[in-house]
Amino acid sequence: MPNSYPDQSVAVLFSGGDSPGMNAFLRAIVRLGLNREKIVVLGIRDGYRGLVRTARAVNGDAEALVRLKSTIASHPGRAGLINEQLDIIRMDHASVSGIMGKGGTILGSARCLEFHTPEVREKVIRLLKNLNVRALIVVGGDGSLTGAKLLAEESDLQIIGVPATIDNDLQFTDMALGVDTAVKTLVWAVDHFIDTARSHRRVMVLETMGRESGDLARMAGLASGAEMIITPEGGPITDEAMKGLAAKIEGAMTRGRGHAIVLVAEGVQFDPPQKRNRAYVLMDAFQEYFQRSGAPFPDLEVRPSVLGHLQRGGHTTPQDCILAARFADRAWTTILTEKSKNGITALRKNVIEIVPYGAPDMPERAAFSKEMEKLHEELSSW
Ligand code: ADP
Repeated sequence: MPNSYPDQSVAVLFSGGDSPGMNAFLRAIVRLGLNREKIVVLGIRDGYRGLVRTARAVNGDAEALVRLKSTIASHPGRAGLINEQLDIIRMDHASVSGIMGKGGTILGSARCLEFHTPEVREKVIRLLKNLNVRALIVVGGDGSLTGAKLLAEESDLQIIGVPATIDNDLQFTDMALGVDTAVKTLVWAVDHFIDTARSHRRVMVLETMGRESGDLARMAGLASGAEMIITPEGGPITDEAMKGLAAKIEGAMTRGRGHAIVLVAEGVQFDPPQKRNRAYVLMDAFQEYFQRSGAPFPDLEVRPSVLGHLQRGGHTTPQDCILAARFADRAWTTILTEKSKNGITALRKNVIEIVPYGAPDMPERAAFSKEMEKLHEELSSW
């Protein structure tokens, strides 16, 4: 009965910074739910914020709850998506048609400060139970998965997390949704910057995302052939260290190089600390070094660019679409066969596992970072 309110459902929300692959995941979770498991998926708009808004609107009122259920039932799929007042949408086949490759999320993602308050989460838990939700799937990054962990601890709902962040800073999985697409975008960006760097014999310093992790910059550096990658894991960069990096570039120029692309991860810190974007700090330090008295290339120009949210958008790569389908498959299997199990889907050695919230960092991830750095060094022509 498509227009009646479902006796049981699984809810899904997207939270925190958006990432490519979220729509592919939504499509997969909805289609597997309808085609294979015969269970309805409720899509939550704007992450935790949509739940908090709805819990506040219902506010424990039995009649308001009946009205909400009736509105959800009478606005399935696209009718629900275009109704901006409705934060909970009964997803159907058509509502996830044609979205797989699109970046972002059609359900919206958000940050919700109120969700840090236990009383607010308690209201959300009550709402979900009143709506016959048996499991909630939270798709997002580190912060969103912390919220999911708390929900799992504070309720008997089944809470499944799905890692989605372009930063690749979640060390319990080989890859999160969106990383592959972001790396592809960065390679595209480097390709464009190389054209102008080469023509003007310039050094381009490009700042990538990645939060406290340098892995996004490392992967992009290895895949694009960018000449230098500066990452946060080695600790704050001193003025002396910046001179050393500039000297390395100058040395390459002396040996005939005409240009250089430098990738700097957003997590990089300086000693003494700096307020400006890393790309600008490095530009000034490099420029000063190149223009010191007696320098061989005083005209060598440095140009900065903070790549920013460009990295979060764009067409989702096949790898991310495949990972999304596999995460969705694992989420459904866990919900149906291990009803009391909470945890996060993770890619480990090409197997999708469910790992507990708070799982320790995989040593393989640190080894991977080192391997990328070593290979980058060895592939360099400097
Ligand atoms: P991301 O998931 O991309 O890391 P954020 O760190 O901004 O993004 O977290 C997204 C949302 O997750 C927050 O706005 C908040 O609603 C929720 N969240 C984050 N950390 C916590 C926490 N410690 N307790 C409860 N909710 C949290």
